Amino acid sequence: MDLNCVNACTHQAIRENGNSLVIQKELCRDCASHECIGSCYSRALELAGYTITLDDLITKIQRDRPFWGSEGGVTLTGGEPFAQHEFTYRFLEKCYNTHIHTAIETCGYIPWQNIEPLLDFLDWIFYDLKHADTKMHQHETGAGNELIFENALRISQRFSGRLIYRLPLIPAYNDDEATIAGIASFIRSTGRNEVNVLPMHHLGSEKHILSGKEDYRWKSRPIPDQKHLLRIKDWFEDLGVKCYTGSETPF
Ligand code: SF4
Repeated sequence: MDLNCVNACTHQAIRENGNSLVIQKELCRDCASHECIGSCYSRALELAGYTITLDDLITKIQRDRPFWGSEGGVTLTGGEPFAQHEFTYRFLEKCYNTHIHTAIETCGYIPWQNIEPLLDFLDWIFYDLKHADTKMHQHETGAGNELIFENALRISQRFSGRLIYRLPLIPAYNDDEATIAGIASFIRSTGRNEVNVLPMHHLGSEKHILSGKEDYRWKSRPIPDQKHLLRIKDWFEDLGVKCYTGSETPF
């Protein structure tokens, strides 16, 4: 096996694992030179993402503006855009001042002080809910839902734009009638009434493995079928929550 990248990495972050090579994330320093990439004969590695200044980003967006049509705009997604709240604030402020429609997708697990100042510059928020039971939430995500629910309540009171909840639908986790009723009840308690149900898919499984994480444990879960999605839509709508399924996302 060609061990060029193993030798090139001065942090010993790359090691052999049987017939393959593994980048040990805890040792990788994301060094500026990225010798591992440059030394790879077969070009198996490439850098994802890049750094951009605020002005360059705005220029790039303005260039595309004629193609949006009257209803278009910008959606910030992630990762988690609120995690880079300072840059996100300055970016949204610029969009606001140039009349660009803005939306954000968030998991809501962010300190309130990082969310609140940005609300004045947002038109739409897509806000993830995963489970109404905090123990179940903790079980699959590693954190309880308290902060997420608290932020959702605060946003719903403070934010005058459109707040659409998002439910990633996971079979045998949050797709039963009682769980949907719990989520619908929370949504109604915030005074809002829209949810976008996104059925689970496995498109990220390769990325999951390539990023060095443990075995992709969701692979045995079936993807929810259309019949079940329609049943879930009925459950939500019977409880007074307008439900969009999958690609019905109201963009
Ligand atoms: S980015 Fe730098 S530290 Fe990380 S694996 Fe590559 S060479 Fe090593």
